[in-house]
Amino acid sequence: MSQVLLVEPRGFCAGVDRAIEIVERALEVYGAPVYVRHEIVHNKFVVEGLKAKGAVFIAEVDDAPDNSLLIFSAHGVSKSVRSSADVRGLRVIDATCPLVTKVHLELLRHYQNGDQVILIGHAGHPEVEGTMGQAPEGSVLLVSQPEDVEQLEVADAERVAYVTQTTLSVDDTADVIAALQTRFPNIQSPKREDICYATSNRQAAVKELAANSDVVLVIGSKNSSNSNRLREVAERSGCSAYLIDGCEDIEPGWFGFDDRIGISAGASAPEVLVEQVSEWLKARGFAAPQVLKVREENVTFSLPTELR
Ligand code: SF4
Repeated sequence: MSQVLLVEPRGFCAGVDRAIEIVERALEVYGAPVYVRHEIVHNKFVVEGLKAKGAVFIAEVDDAPDNSLLIFSAHGVSKSVRSSADVRGLRVIDATCPLVTKVHLELLRHYQNGDQVILIGHAGHPEVEGTMGQAPEGSVLLVSQPEDVEQLEVADAERVAYVTQTTLSVDDTADVIAALQTRFPNIQSPKREDICYATSNRQAAVKELAANSDVVLVIGSKNSSNSNRLREVAERSGCSAYLIDGCEDIEPGWFGFDDRIGISAGASAPEVLVEQVSEWLKARGFAAPQVLKVREENVTFSLPTELR
């Protein structure tokens, strides 16, 4: 008899919920088109759905026409992106997740105190670009793995602080922090961890899911940082793990009726995709899913005032 486990928590976090609602409300209140710099959240299904409603996704502020309404994505933006929108006189609505803004403010406080700020994160990710861009170019150092720490050049080893990307692997980041603390014993750390509640809850949940599964399917897009981390965590816990946008990505041969199948979803993956995968399995004779609840979650964020 097959077994299918649906882990909780999974899927949308409060920051993603808020960002999507911002675009939908902006379309209702101001009408289409609204321009969104970068994918509002890293999920193909969500982005295509909003495009169909009149959102236009652009790479840079300059791609927005004069007098248009521009929304910044949940990943946050650098100060220079913000000021280029100001210079253009564009009306801006900011969908940056409040937990990313918290990291921005922390970084700025350290920079203004004269500390050398080190960001733990993945080069090229939009959140990392936005966070580094809270201070002048070249002033924040980026590390992604313990080996990077040895290469750091700082003016005063006593005046060093670190912040992190919100969607990192909790375990990998602990290794980087340990390397930083070994090299800079007085390094200042965030007052509260920067890896967000949604990332750490989903990683803890997927570990338990993996312990009870032979194969784990993580629903999420390839460019979603937190979804990739979920797949890695499941794989390191000893089972096969695949990142899929939806049931169309499932390949025959990944599992059979004797396997225990676990399902999770990244913070930007909508529940409808989870339902489709469950239905896909049921239609092929696999068991109806059972819920594996690992942690309770009840975080919500309010909308910007102009959209309430
Ligand atoms: Fe905010 Fe975390 Fe969700 Fe990113 S994953 S949008 S930081 S709550």
